[in-house]
This record gives sequence, structure tokens and C-alpha cells, in this order.
Amino acid sequence: MAKQQRNKPTTGQPMKPTAASKRTAEDFETSIFPTWCPGCGDWSIWGAIKQSLANLGLNPHEMCVVYGIGCSGNMCSFVNAYGFHALHGRALPAAVGIKLANHDLPVLVVNGDGDNYGEGMGHWIHTMRGNHNLTHIVHDNLIYGLTTGQTSPTSEQGYKSKTTPKGVIEQQTNPIALALESGATFIGRGFAGDHQHLQQLVTAAMQHKGYAFIDVFQPCVTFNKVQTYDWYRERLYKLEDRGHDTSDRTAAWQRAHEWEDELPIGIFYQEQRAVFHEEIEHLGTPLVKTELKPDIAPLLKEFV
Ligand code: SF4
Ligand code: MG
Repeated sequence: MAKQQRNKPTTGQPMKPTAASKRTAEDFETSIFPTWCPGCGDWSIWGAIKQSLANLGLNPHEMCVVYGIGCSGNMCSFVNAYGFHALHGRALPAAVGIKLANHDLPVLVVNGDGDNYGEGMGHWIHTMRGNHNLTHIVHDNLIYGLTTGQTSPTSEQGYKSKTTPKGVIEQQTNPIALALESGATFIGRGFAGDHQHLQQLVTAAMQHKGYAFIDVFQPCVTFNKVQTYDWYRERLYKLEDRGHDTSDRTAAWQRAHEWEDELPIGIFYQEQRAVFHEEIEHLGTPLVKTELKPDIAPLLKEFV
């Protein structure tokens, strides 16, 4: 991989796009062609991520993407960057660890609604509380896709699947409201069927200093026959078209609870707050800048 100049972010500072970035979306592709179903929303999210990374002038060897388990996590094989494919629900603690070890490394997290709001819910809440400087994109298709269409935490009440043949009993998880309540400092929602808008949202999230979260409505064309592209298009509107003030918590809270007839996309809320790794700088240098002189002789003896 050829090294090129990039607009390198300083520790904890938001990235600024370079006007003369030589990067293209193709620089972030691998030789492996995605295996997603034709028409799946994952394709659009993949494209938005690649284009945003290129627009920001990042180099593939100078950033890390952490993935959860699910159809979204298969993106680990399709994005040219350092990648870490975590255990189910454990993408965020891995990403937090990477960021604490190397504060200068841009870290992106990609997982799905089952992985993040199911297995990983506890980790998600604590990552938001800490305002760790990460960008987090959740592919939200309102079901478990990879395991063939079971109900997930964001499935609507009454939704029928092979795990809830008589309909979901539990209340539907509201990711936007939860993020607002838990301390996320950038909260957005995108739609895989509006690629241009989604790409702008991803770029804005990556430029945010602190924990930036985007829930993406990602139609699963194979298993979710209710929340289709048309279902979303009949309901979606853009917050920016209605003059939404992204610094207004109360307005964001109200918009977060719109579901029945209208579904907002765009940036719900954004604020600046000290990020976690800046709060612990007095404890010493991060791991990547620490000179390690381990005595490995005793360890090697064990294998002789
Ligand atoms: Fe996409 Fe659904 Fe196919 Fe998975 S099963 S690749 S989420 S359409
Ligand atoms: Mg899912």
C-alpha cells in the first residue's frame, strides 16, 4: 500500500476534509466482493463509509474499523483498513481499548441492531457515558439478518418472525432516545435508501470530537417484509428540512419519539464535552507511545 500525505487528525481533534484529497472510495475496497443479498441496505452503508473516509483524506493503513457479528460485520472483509472482527456484542469494548491504546488513531465501529442493542447493550451505554472518541454506525434492519430473520430489540411490537410467531410482546427499543439519555454527544439517523444524505451524515459524525452515533435504517430485503424501502419512503423526512435545532435536547427528545406516521432522519443532537482519553492524560502516555522492554526469556523457556 503506497503511503500518501493525509490530513492527519491531532489527538482528540475533529478531522477536517482536505480539498486536495487524492483518496477515492476504491482505495478502501479489498479484492473480496461483498456477499450481501442484492438490494440489501448494507451496500449503501458500505459505499457511504468508503466515500467518507476518502473525503476526509484518511489512509487505509492509518485507521481502524471494529465490527460486530452479523451481516454488517461481514464488511470486515470488504473494507481496506485495519479491522477487528469482535465477538458478538463486543465491538465497542474492543474499539474503546484500541482508542485508549492509540489516541491518534481514527476508530470506526460497525455493527447491527441485534449485536448492539441485544448482546452489546450494556457496552453501548457505558461507551456513551464515557464519551469515547469513536464513530459508531449501526445497521438497523429491525431483525437479526445473518441468522435468518429472528426478532431483534428494535423489531416493532407485534412483529411476527420465527422466534415470535404470535408477535413481539416487548416494547420496541428506541436507540435515539437511549443515546440521548446516555450521554452520546452526536446522535444521527440515516436511511440506506438515501445514499447522498447518509454519506454526509457519516462524514459529519467522523468529524465530531467525541462519541458519534448513527442508527441507519437498513432494509433487509430477504427477511424483513414489513420495513421495506417503500415503507420507509412513505414516512421519512429530514430534520434539517424542518428547521430542527441540533443543540436543543428537548426538541431532540420529542423527535426521537416520532415513529407512527413520520420518521425523522438527520442529526438529532450534537454537543461538545470532554472526551474520555483527554480526561486520563495525567495518568501517563498511551500504550502505543510507551517503550516496552519485556523480558520474554522466562516465557520462551516454557516452550523449549
Ligand atoms: Fe442484507 Fe438481510 Fe441479506 Fe443480510 S440477510 S445481507 S441484512 S438482505
Ligand atoms: Mg439486524
